Amino acid sequence: MSDTQDPPTEESPADQQLTGEYDPSDIEPKWQDHWVNADTYAYDGDADTRFAIDTPPPTVSGNLHMGHLYQFTLQDFVARYHRMADDTVYFPFGYDDNGIASERLTERELDIRHQDYERRVFQEKCREVCADYEEEFTEDVQSLAISVDWDNTYKTIAPEVQRVSQLSFLDLYEQGREYRQRAPTIWCPDCETAISQVEQEDEDKATKFNDIAFDLVADSEGPITWDETFTISTTRPELLPACVSVFVHPDDDENQHLVGGTARVPLFEQEVPIIADERVDMETGSGLVMCCTFGDQNDIEWYQAHDLDLRLAIDESATMTEVAGDYEGMSTHEAREAIIEDLDSEGYLLESRDHDHTVQVHERCGVEVEYLVTEQWYIEMLDKKDEYLEAGREMDWYPEKMFSRYQHWIEGLEWDWCISRQRDSGIPIPVWYCEDCGEPVMARREDLPVDPLSDDPPVDACPECGHGDLTPEEDVFDTWATSSLTPLVNAGWDWDSGAEDFVWDNPELYPFDLRPQGHDIISFWLFHTVVKCYEHTGEVPFDSVMINGMVLDENREAMSKSKGNVIPPSEVLENFPVDAARYWAAGTSIGDDFPYKEGDLEAGERLLQKLWNASRLVDQLTPAAVPEEPDELSSVDRWLLAELDATIDSVTAKFEDYAFSKARNELRSFFWNTFCDDYLEIAKQRVSEGSDASTEYTLLTAHRTFLKLFAPFLPHITEELWDRLAYGDADTGGSVHTTDWPVAGGYEADLEAGETAMEVVSALRRYKTENGLPLNADLDHVEVYGHVEGFEAAIGEAMHVERLDTYEDAPDITTEVSGIDLDYSVVGPEFGSDVGAIDGGIESGDYEIEDGRLVVAGEFELGSDLFEVEETRTYSGEGEMTETENAVVVVR
Ligand SMILES: [Zn+2]
Ligand SMILES: [Zn+2]
Repeated sequence: MSDTQDPPTEESPADQQLTGEYDPSDIEPKWQDHWVNADTYAYDGDADTRFAIDTPPPTVSGNLHMGHLYQFTLQDFVARYHRMADDTVYFPFGYDDNGIASERLTERELDIRHQDYERRVFQEKCREVCADYEEEFTEDVQSLAISVDWDNTYKTIAPEVQRVSQLSFLDLYEQGREYRQRAPTIWCPDCETAISQVEQEDEDKATKFNDIAFDLVADSEGPITWDETFTISTTRPELLPACVSVFVHPDDDENQHLVGGTARVPLFEQEVPIIADERVDMETGSGLVMCCTFGDQNDIEWYQAHDLDLRLAIDESATMTEVAGDYEGMSTHEAREAIIEDLDSEGYLLESRDHDHTVQVHERCGVEVEYLVTEQWYIEMLDKKDEYLEAGREMDWYPEKMFSRYQHWIEGLEWDWCISRQRDSGIPIPVWYCEDCGEPVMARREDLPVDPLSDDPPVDACPECGHGDLTPEEDVFDTWATSSLTPLVNAGWDWDSGAEDFVWDNPELYPFDLRPQGHDIISFWLFHTVVKCYEHTGEVPFDSVMINGMVLDENREAMSKSKGNVIPPSEVLENFPVDAARYWAAGTSIGDDFPYKEGDLEAGERLLQKLWNASRLVDQLTPAAVPEEPDELSSVDRWLLAELDATIDSVTAKFEDYAFSKARNELRSFFWNTFCDDYLEIAKQRVSEGSDASTEYTLLTAHRTFLKLFAPFLPHITEELWDRLAYGDADTGGSVHTTDWPVAGGYEADLEAGETAMEVVSALRRYKTENGLPLNADLDHVEVYGHVEGFEAAIGEAMHVERLDTYEDAPDITTEVSGIDLDYSVVGPEFGSDVGAIDGGIESGDYEIEDGRLVVAGEFELGSDLFEVEETRTYSGEGEMTETENAVVVVR
C-alpha cells in the first residue's frame, strides 16, 4: 500500500480524532500506569467462566533478563486472550524470596555471611534486601504491560505462605509420606547444606587419574606370606582415608583370586575387605575399585548393600576430619595434592595421567557436591514413580514433546526428595524433638506458621516418654518445597480448625487451567508441584502446561555473563517500543529456544506505524458512530467481512492452542495484505466518490475487530486507538482489553473469487501507474481470464472500466522455452570436465526435456534438481497482458 498516509483531499469528515504520528514513548507508560491504577485486570471471583493461570514466581535474585521478558510476555498473551474470550482471568504474581538464592543475594549485597548472624536477624536482612529488588521487579514487569492482577500477589516468605508450606508438611507427615533419617545425603560444601537430586548438575572437568598400589595382606584362606599388590585407579585420592572396601567384578577372572581377601590402604593403613559386586565397571582403570564413604552414589549403594564401615573423612565445609590423620584441617583440594605427593615419595603412586570426567556440582553455586551422612527430612517419592508419571500424562502438554522431559526425569529418579536445608532464610520446619527418646513433636495446625527456634512447642512434655525437654528443629525447607505449592497458595488452601478440614478461599480456581513455565524447571517446579498437589488434593493441579524455550543471542548461543553476550531488556526497550518487543516475543513456536532478533523488533515497529496510519485513514473515511448494517452489502464489503470471519476463526483456534507465532503472522497478513493493500484502497476510492453506508459499516466493523484481535499482542497501540476513536463503552471501563473477543459474523462470500478480483484491481492500478494515467482514468475495455464471478461490477467501479469481459478459461498464450539455468554448484562436481560440452549443447539448442529430466546432446542426463527452465509467455491477441497469481488481465 502506497498512500494510506495521504488523507483524501475531498470531504475530510469533521469528527476526526486521529492526527499526528504514533509516539510510543509517551503513550506506552501512560497506559501502563492507567491499567494498574484503574485495576483493569482485576479478577472477578463471581464471574460465570474463568481462566486461571498459575504463574512462576521468579526468584528474587537480581534484575530482569530477556528470559523474563519473553516468558512473562507469553503468559500475557494467554491472559489477555482469555480475559476477552472468557469472563475473567486469574493472573497472579509471586516473588520467590525464600531459600538459598535470596540468602546468597543478601550475603553478596551486604558483604556478610549468614553464619555470623542469629537466624531472625539474618532473615530481617534478607527481607530488606529482597524488598528493594521486589519493588524494582514490580516496576519492570508493569513496564512490559504484563496484565497481572496486582491485588493478587504473594511472596513465598510471607506468613500466609509459610502457613501453607507448614500445613503441607504436617499433612504429608500424617499421610505417612515423610520421614526423617540419618543417611548419606547430597551436600554442597560451599552453601553448607543438604540439597536434592534435582539441584545437582553434570559438569565436565579435567583431572588426573592416579594408579595407586594397594598391599594384599590376606586372601580368602587367611594372611599371606608373600608380597602381592594390586592397582586401584582413582581421581579422588583424598578419599583414601574414607576407603572401607575394594570391589571386583564377579566376571573379572584375572582378579577373582583376591575376592574374600583383605587389603591395606596406603598411607592410612586401614585394612579393608575385598568383595565381588556386579556394579563394578570393568572397563575403567584396573577393573578394581575402592569404595569410600562417600565418593559417589555407587559408594552409597555398596555401603548399604554390604553393610560396610563408615569412615567420614570430609566435613560439611569440605575440610578433612580427624579420620584423615596428618591431613586433618586441610581442604579436600589441599589434601589431594599432599596425598599424591606422599604416595609418590612412598612408592605407592604408579602413574598419574590426565583425565576428563563428569562431576556433579550444585546448580546454584557450581561447587562440586560431596556425599555426607546427615540427618534430613525426606518426602517419599520413589515408591510412586508410576503414579506421578500417570499424573503427568493427565495434563495437556504444549508442546506435546515436552512430556518426555517429565518422563525422563521420573525414570531417572534415584533419591526421595530431601526437603530440609541447613540454611537461615527459609520457612522453618515446624517440629521439635524429645531430647530423651527423639520422638518428633509436630506443631498444631491452628498455630501455624511457627518458628520452633522462638515459639514454644504445643506440649510441655514428650507424649511418648514424658520427658520435659524438647529441642527445636533448626533446619528450614528447601525453597521448592514451598514453590511447589503455588496452586494451593493461589487458591487459598487452608485448614479450618472449627470444621477440622481443609478449606479453600477460591475453590473455583483449582485445578488451574494452565501452568506456564520454562523447560529448564520441569524437573524442579512442575514435577514437585504435581507431587505435592496430587498428594494433598488427590487431583492433578493443571489441565494444561505451556512450556517455553530459552532466549538465545543472535548467533543462537545462550546468553551468559561470562560470554558477555547478555542483552538486558532495559537496553532493548530504550530503542524499541514495548509493543515491538512483544511482537518479537510472539515470533517462535512454543517450546523452541529463541534467538534475539533485532530485525523482528524492527518489523514490529513497522507494523505499529502501519496500524496507526491505516487507523487514521479509516477514521477519515468514516462517521463517528458505526452505522446500522445496511440491508444490502456490496460484494467487496461482504467479501472483506467473510475474510475477516475466516481470520477470526483461525486466529482464535491458534490462541486456544498457544500457537502465538501462527496467530501473529496470520493476523498481520490479513491486516497488511487483505485489509490495507486490497480493501482499503478500494474503500478509499468509493468513499471519496460519495458516502457509502455499506463501505462505512464494513470499515468500522473490520477496524474494531482487528484492534481486538491485535490487543493481546500489541496492548498499548490498540488501547490508544480504541480510546482516541471512542470505541469503548462504559460497561467495559472503556478498555479494549475487557471487551469480548470477536466471533465470526456469519458472512458468506466466494473468497477465492474475491481474492482474484483484488489481484485484478491491483494489476489495473499498476497498469495505470506505469502508463502515467491518473487512478480515476477511464479504461475502455478490459478482459479478465480467471474466476471473479460476482465481483465484475466491483472491479469495473473501482478501476473505472467501461467494458469488462470475463472468461473462466485462459487466453491464448504461447509458452516457449527460452533458456536453461544450470545449478553449477551441483552440476560442476557431478559432470566435471563435461560441463563445457553440456553448456555447448544447451547453447546450440541440442537438448530435450524428458519426464522432467534434461538430456543434452543425446548423452548427458541431468536430474530435475540440477536445472531450471526459463520460459517466455507470449500473448498473441490484442491489448496489453498482465498475469497475476490467479488471473490474466488484458487491457485492450
Ligand atoms: Zn552450593
Ligand atoms: Zn521422649
